Amino acid sequence: QRKHKLAVVGSGNWGTAIAKIVAENAASNPDIFEQTVEMWVFEENVEIPKTSQNYDPSNPGPQKLTEVINRTHENVKYLPGVQLPTNLHANPSVEDAVKDGTILVFNLPHQFILKTCEQLKGKILPFARGISCIKGVDVNESGIHLFSETIGRTLGIYCGALSGANIANEVANEKWSETSVAYDPPPMDSKAPTPQRTPTSSQIDLVQFEHKDTSGQLSKIKLKALPSEYPPVDHAVLKALFHRPYFHVRVVHDVAGVSISGALKNIVALAAGWVDGMGWGDNAKAAVMRVGLLEMVKFGDKFFSATIDQRTFTEESAGVADLITSCGGGRNFRCAKHSVERNQPIEEIEKAELNGQKLQGTLTAVEVNRFLKKQGLEDEFPLFTAVYRILEGSMSVAEIPSHIER
Ligand code: NAD
Ligand code: 13P
Ligand code: CA
Repeated sequence: QRKHKLAVVGSGNWGTAIAKIVAENAASNPDIFEQTVEMWVFEENVEIPKTSQNYDPSNPGPQKLTEVINRTHENVKYLPGVQLPTNLHANPSVEDAVKDGTILVFNLPHQFILKTCEQLKGKILPFARGISCIKGVDVNESGIHLFSETIGRTLGIYCGALSGANIANEVANEKWSETSVAYDPPPMDSKAPTPQRTPTSSQIDLVQFEHKDTSGQLSKIKLKALPSEYPPVDHAVLKALFHRPYFHVRVVHDVAGVSISGALKNIVALAAGWVDGMGWGDNAKAAVMRVGLLEMVKFGDKFFSATIDQRTFTEESAGVADLITSCGGGRNFRCAKHSVERNQPIEEIEKAELNGQKLQGTLTAVEVNRFLKKQGLEDEFPLFTAVYRILEGSMSVAEIPSHIER
């Protein structure tokens, strides 16, 4: 029996928090997982803040972030103050970090994922499996796609999704929360009979995996079966990978619902931040959240109906619970609020306040609008459209109530 080798692609605020969980679970499940977990770090020079317990007055200058993480077990820039497990290895080379990984966890701001996947094409194990923790959607000429799909198609692997009400700093400090993991591969990974199985010389079974994507289009991925020496990547293994006493996992099948709610709630959180910044109070914020949730459900129903389960929005952590926490104290909410209070563009607040962390809602609002405009459906999603127009400067926050009224 072989063990799964784990790699986390990304090491920002959430990337590092998830890598901590995965490394803790590798240590707790030595029969399933290899002990050393690789974490790709987009290399940069950092100065260890004086407030860090790892600050060394004899070495105050800039140092490579990977070296700091491997020496001090603290991501001093993106997750300061949190002790990381010693079996987590920071790796500045993404190719090297994933090269023998059988389970790859993707956790980057969504604007960087395409380039990273292009770089990894042909450089991963052909039978690897993926989980995307990314909150965003991939909008391009051909339409709108889940990042799990885009990653899977680019790398020729199956990829599921993890999303939930999970402010990274709270999770990293081991405050209890819940999350949703969605995983629904073709039946080849279980004991069920598989379609069109053709043995190849490499002794890896190739399965022509017909993947119905969000537009209802069938795309063909040639998926390679996991060699039988490995434990199958199933819901039980994913639970072993992500569940902690302070991080409660429910594994479901609805990859579209889990991914879409995680992406769209970031748009709503901007509107919540703006109305809060106006000093309009909790009732106004709740009104924005009500309309936002309706638009999230409607969006899923209109564009992902082939696979989506509407109950995900109300019953799973990835749905309404994430909307609530994000509109309570997420980065999109906070930066939007400050931008109204200080009368500054949100991009300036992001640069000044987030120390290199990236907002996802601003870009997602633009991308979703590009998609809706193309479909002629801006009017059917008044809150999403208002958020886009406020960002581009053609509408004011004061106009939100009349714009979303119907
Ligand atoms: P982050 O906001 O902390 O972003 C910073 C990361 O981006 C750093 O690791 C930085 O090195 C990297 N980066 C910068 N330029 C890059 C480039 N050119 N190429 C590759 N990487 C580059 O990131 P995060 O919080 O880990 O977010 C990752 C995903 O997780 C996002 O989709 C986010 O919505 C989601 N998420 C975040 C949280 C949270 O609380 N932070 C919670 C749940 C989900
Ligand atoms: P922000 O990116 O707005 O901080 O949202 C974090 C999040 O996704 C909480 O679940
Ligand atoms: Ca709060």
